[in-house]
Amino acid sequence: MSPALSVLHDVFGYERFRGPQEDIIEHVVAGGDALVLMPTGGGKSLCYQVPAIVRREAGQGVTIVVSPLIALMHDQVGALLEAGVEAAFLNSTLDWPQTQEVEQRLARGELTLLYAAPERVTTDRFIALLDGLHARGQLSLFAIDEAHCVSQWGHDFRPEYRQLAVLHERYPEVPRIALTATADALTRADILEGLRLEEARLFISSFDRPNIRYRLEEKKEPVAQLMRFITREHLGDAGVVYCQSRRRVEELALALQDAGLQALPYHAGLPAEVRQQHQDRFLREDGIVMVATIAFGMGIDKPDVRFVAHVDLPKNIESYYQETGRAGRDGLPADAWMVYGLQDVVNQRRMIDEGDAAEEFKAVLRGKLDALLALAEATDCRRQRLGG
Ligand code: ADP
Repeated sequence: MSPALSVLHDVFGYERFRGPQEDIIEHVVAGGDALVLMPTGGGKSLCYQVPAIVRREAGQGVTIVVSPLIALMHDQVGALLEAGVEAAFLNSTLDWPQTQEVEQRLARGELTLLYAAPERVTTDRFIALLDGLHARGQLSLFAIDEAHCVSQWGHDFRPEYRQLAVLHERYPEVPRIALTATADALTRADILEGLRLEEARLFISSFDRPNIRYRLEEKKEPVAQLMRFITREHLGDAGVVYCQSRRRVEELALALQDAGLQALPYHAGLPAEVRQQHQDRFLREDGIVMVATIAFGMGIDKPDVRFVAHVDLPKNIESYYQETGRAGRDGLPADAWMVYGLQDVVNQRRMIDEGDAAEEFKAVLRGKLDALLALAEATDCRRQRLGG
């Protein structure tokens, strides 16, 4: 049995690798760079966790995982510790003594995986630590999660990600694996260039999630249509309803509550404590419907979300797949349901036209909107033509 397969069995308790995991893991264990594009729920984490463990057992030291999502770091480190893997994180939730303790454990070579926020990784202090490990041959691998954050095209752009190129410049022979669920070609090119991953092998898996049923309806009375969809098909199920504006989120959450459903609002205008509380309830309790703007969802790992509904058109096809990919992560049947109308299209086109982006960028956005509409037309059984 290969060392990777033993780790999969013994540490994670899984029978076999899923889809492209095995190829990716072999490539990274052998020291290659990789860019992994996999839908949400596809199993990206194991693609670096297994190599991290195998390489550490082979005496190659620690894996540094760069992640912008504090909640996700905590969940993953918790799960790894439970599985008996030496893991820790460094982020703004630690006080100074705790930070120092993690740094010391890192320097002493006690960790298999260290999760850190991108702005931390590029500080002089952290680089000095990495230099020390590197000098002793104890820097095994870099995993860069949510790699699309390096791209200025996307809505998750984080300038700190651009500085991660320093990892390649300083430690050129240390392998790196970048991972994302966002697939568009421009973003991909940006990741390769921005992270200096020119040598990386690409692993792109299809966005098809056979357990998710995609359905679209013509928008007539969206609130009534949504209510019908939920009460007929998903009463008592956990789900997410995406809308474009905060006001709409509030209105819809109230309407659903009035109808006796357990609905909660979530948008960037709510106080942080309220958002956190609603997110916690969604994760812990059964059957909560989260009515949200796109501010909700990044890094949410709730396996039994049975539906994702869109009452407004998503921004583009990648957002649509990313948002709907939060349904059915347990592999059981789930619905991606959307109502759309001509007015949405008109509004989005106007938003693009009137925005102050460069003309070439607008052309890209229009192309993405067209792709989304093409999908909508292809999926809509009744093939409602959109005007013209
Ligand atoms: P992603 O980061 O791609 O969204 P995760 O890495 O969180 O996905 O994996 C999604 C779920 O699938 C997790 O619950 C994980 O434990 C499970 N999983 C991943 N790989 C396997 C596998 N080979 N066998 C069984 N379950 C797996």
